[in-house]
Formats: sequence, structure tokens, C-alpha cells
Amino acid sequence: MTVELICVGTELLLGNIVNTNAAFLSEQCAMLGLSMYYQSVVGDNPGRLEHLLRMAKERSDIIILCGGLGPTQDDLTKETAAGVMGKSLVEDQQAKEEIQSFLAKRGHAITENNWKQALVPEGCRVLYNPNGTAPGIIMEEADTCVILLPGPPNELIPMFEEQVYPYLCDLQPEIICSKMVKLCGIGESMAETKILDLINAQSNPTVAPYAKTGEVHLRITAKAENESQAYALITPVEEELKNRFGDLIYTDDPQVTLEMAVAELLQKYHLTVTTAESCTGGLLAGRLVNVPGVSESFKEGYITYSNEAKEKLLGVSHDTLLRYGAVSSQTAAEMAEGGAKSAGADLGVAVTGIAGPEGGTKEKPVGLVYISCYCRGKVYTEKNLYTGSRSKVREYSVASALTLLRKTILNEVKE
Ligand code: ATP
Ligand code: MG
Repeated sequence: MTVELICVGTELLLGNIVNTNAAFLSEQCAMLGLSMYYQSVVGDNPGRLEHLLRMAKERSDIIILCGGLGPTQDDLTKETAAGVMGKSLVEDQQAKEEIQSFLAKRGHAITENNWKQALVPEGCRVLYNPNGTAPGIIMEEADTCVILLPGPPNELIPMFEEQVYPYLCDLQPEIICSKMVKLCGIGESMAETKILDLINAQSNPTVAPYAKTGEVHLRITAKAENESQAYALITPVEEELKNRFGDLIYTDDPQVTLEMAVAELLQKYHLTVTTAESCTGGLLAGRLVNVPGVSESFKEGYITYSNEAKEKLLGVSHDTLLRYGAVSSQTAAEMAEGGAKSAGADLGVAVTGIAGPEGGTKEKPVGLVYISCYCRGKVYTEKNLYTGSRSKVREYSVASALTLLRKTILNEVKE
């Protein structure tokens, strides 16, 4: 089955809004195993929309349209689509009542143009909309199915998930399921090399690496008749990935971020941590504080941008700064240890580096970053050289700091 997507809205063409509905709907259709060969964006213009719809009708089994179902004059998707399908519009009693109660609940007066939203193509399925006034619509013909969805994502997403997804599942005998395994502390090319045989040998399921800042995500995707069959194909591959990557895998839950995985470890082992940041200037602390409930483990952090601050707040020795410089493994180590001691925390994680674009030298180029983690008398230090803009260097540094923190905790609890 082929599906085609048409997003309607002049705002989209002008770049005033980002087409997040397209990303959402494409991903959902891929999960359903539908092949999407065409996607387009058209302004609020009935002539051009009609032209596009006639083409889509020729080449695709399912056409999904989003946007332009509102009450105003420029909302023309429904009228145009009904015209192309040769259907006239009739009033739907339930839609009328729902619009009335939706507006009444919010204390909004009903205007004459609201009734336009209760009109639906004759003989269609109506997708009632608890989050707005525009109902969605499914029109079926011998060889084409046209689905109309409202533009606002808070209306479109639940309508799709609750009403359209199950409908499309029934149309499509095969589904696609996937699972994500997330790694840290390994680069994309190294990760790919380690599983090249899996990538090359398999067609169902497939394994694909995605590079993220300081992380690699591996997606395992299987096609099958139903979910349990798909997961039966996925599980042995997932186990194999776990064998090969071991502790480098921090989660197999798509919702879990690196900072969440780290926070969970801190909590599990009742450990506290502090941050001592130079070039990342609080970004690392910010990532940790993304996690609700981290206050148990993270009580204070330091932003020590100047040498004076490193001495004053973290007790880095004047001599170390003079002799090795602020960007050095010695300074990073003293920052981590000094931070942990000042804060009375079990662990201290420190970042010092040259984020650029200026300030690099031959010996210490832009992108050179030292990361240290102190835990119970021991200090682990890493030297990294990143490329990219100032903000990229800072983001990479934070990901590496979280990775080193995680590695330190795992090492310590093993002993
Ligand atoms: P309304 O009843 O609000 O007029 P509608 O179905 O007519 O809804 P549009 O008028 O096309 O939809 O868009 C309304 C709003 O929905 C836009 O201002 C935008 O915020 C959001 N929206 C529309 N299309 C998209 C899209 N493709 N991706 C993300 N957001 C969108
Ligand atoms: Mg509109």
C-alpha cells in the first residue's frame, strides 16, 4: 500500500511554522509499513490543492491531508477534497453537537462560520475531535482513501493515534516495529564497525546506527504480521547487541536520556555528585537538572570560569594553574576533587577546555577539553579533542562528562 502526504497551509510555505506534522505522520506511516513515495506542501489555494489531489489520486492508495479544516474562509481542504472525490457536503448532527458543547464548555460564543465545520462529505467516516472543533474525515472510494486531519498538532496527534492508526492497521496486513538501543562512550564509526556483519547480513530485522552528540543510537526494525511476531524477530538481535556492546549501552528505552540513565545510577547507589565547570559554564549541571528527582543526588555545582574562581571555590592550586594552565589534566583533576570536597559529595565531575572560536594555540588547540571525575580518592581523567562550533564543543563536552560520570559509577560499584 502506498500513502501520500499533503500538508496545507501558506504558513508552512513561508517558513513561519515548522512542518512537525509531516515528521510525525511520516514516522507513523513507516511504522505501519506503508510506503510513502510523495509528500508535498501547498498553500491555502483551492486550485493548486485540487491539482495536487488529482495527481495524488492517480499514484497513491491513501492520501493524508493535514491543515485547513478550520472555520474561516481560507480553510478549504474539506471543500476541495470532497469536490475531487465527487461528494457533496452534508451536515453531521453529532459533529454539530460536539462543536456546540466544545465551545460552550470554554465559554466561547458560536459564530456562524463554526457550522461550516459540521459539514462533512456524504457517506464518509467522521473522526470526532475532543481537542478542537474540526472533525477529521475519512473518505473511501474503490481504489483511493482520503484522510483529512486538522492542522494543530495537539488535535492531529491524538486523532491519528486513537482513530487513524487502528484504521490503517486494518488496511495494511504488515506492520513495522522498532526498538532503540542507546550507546555512549563510543563513536559512530567504531559502533558500526563492531556490527557490520549484522548490518550487512540482515534484511528483517535491520539494524541502523544514528549518530547523536556524544552518543550512538542503534535502531532495530522488523516487519511482521503483528507486534509479537515483530518483537520475536527483534529480541535475538537486541541480545546480540547487548553481548557486543555491554556497558556501553545505557538504555533500551526510547524515552530515557543519558542524563536520566546517570541520575538513575546515582540514586540506585545512593551517591551524590557535584559539577565543576569551566568552558561548559553550567551546561552540565543543566543537563542533570533536566531529570526530575535528581535533587536527591545533585545538591550544588560550580561554574568556575576564571582561574581565580577555580582557586577560590575548588581549591585548585595556584602552582598547578601556573605550571600546567587552566586547560590541563592536572587542573581538571584538581577541579573534580576540590569540587567534591567543597560540596561534600561522593563524586565530582569537572570540565575544562577551549571552546573557541578563539583562544587556541598549537599546543592547546580549540576543541581540546579535559574531563575528570573524582570518586572516593580516585580520579579518572580524559583528554578529548572535538571539532565544530563553540556550542558543539560545549555540547560534546557535556555528553563526555556524563559518560565519564557513568563509567566511574559503574567502575566503583563493581569493586
Ligand atoms: P484551525 O481550526 O486552527 O484553523 P486547521 O485545521 O485549519 O486548524 P491550519 O489553519 O492549517 O489548520 O493550521 C492551524 C495551526 O496548526 C497552525 O497555525 C499551526 O500552528 C498548526 N499547524 C498546521 N499545520 C501544521 C503542520 N504541518 N505542522 C505543524 N503545525 C501545523
Ligand atoms: Mg485554519
